[in-house]
Amino acid sequence: MTDADPATPKFSRVMLKISGEALMGDAGYGLHPPTVERIAQEVAAVHELGVEICMVIGGGNIFRGLQGSAQGMERTTADYMGMLATVMNALAMQSALEKLGVFCRVISAIRMDEVAEPYIRRRAVRHLEKKRVCIFAAGTGNPYFTTDTAATLRANEMNCDAIFKGTKVDGVYDRDPVACSEAQRYDRVTYDEVLARHLKVMDASAIALARDNDLPIIVFSLDEPGGFKGILAGQGAYTTVHG
Ligand code: UDP
Repeated sequence: MTDADPATPKFSRVMLKISGEALMGDAGYGLHPPTVERIAQEVAAVHELGVEICMVIGGGNIFRGLQGSAQGMERTTADYMGMLATVMNALAMQSALEKLGVFCRVISAIRMDEVAEPYIRRRAVRHLEKKRVCIFAAGTGNPYFTTDTAATLRANEMNCDAIFKGTKVDGVYDRDPVACSEAQRYDRVTYDEVLARHLKVMDASAIALARDNDLPIIVFSLDEPGGFKGILAGQGAYTTVHG
């Protein structure tokens, strides 16, 4: 895997999942435009290779349903607010990608025709075939889910080769690598081990959905410049979650 040529990606269609917090930079809340631009550049570099790209961006930099319900808000309402937060993030990413000349569509699971296209599977597939980046917004459109599950669902529907989960660290560790310097990174780990050991990759429903459909999850660092492109060519450090 390490000597692969970056010019020949092994994947033709991928799902990139990032959390809302990835767009926040060092700010405590919301969007940090230079960070959004930096991530857009990472996506554009992969797009240039001809890889078809789906994206799901979380909403945790703005609002999470669980936070709202902990503060006494009705859970379903709070979750809808969380889903709306993902639409704002998706629009920010669309704007940054289009500035780089990458054609892009925001596709929402909740209808808001003035803002984004509704989710119609065959239309989204056509966008991908035309090399437009598809950002799937508003999660699954249902409360009690997360954007990890939304990313896994759409990756299955779009027949993606893998989910690329961009995080702050370069893979899955047996312990928190920030808190514990002796934490060991897995090169490969099975879905069942992730679930049994409660490893922090994605939530359990997303892992189970990936497992049941044999969809690999590749966990890598989004902070490494050129990292996304490198990982697609099998270079750099990452963890593959597999069956
Ligand atoms: N959400 C939801 N249904 C979905 C996806 C998301 O209700 O299908 C809500 C949920 O409240 C969640 C919020 O949207 O807390 C933001 O998504 P998430 O927590 O996954 O964002 P991330 O942690 O990736 O930034």
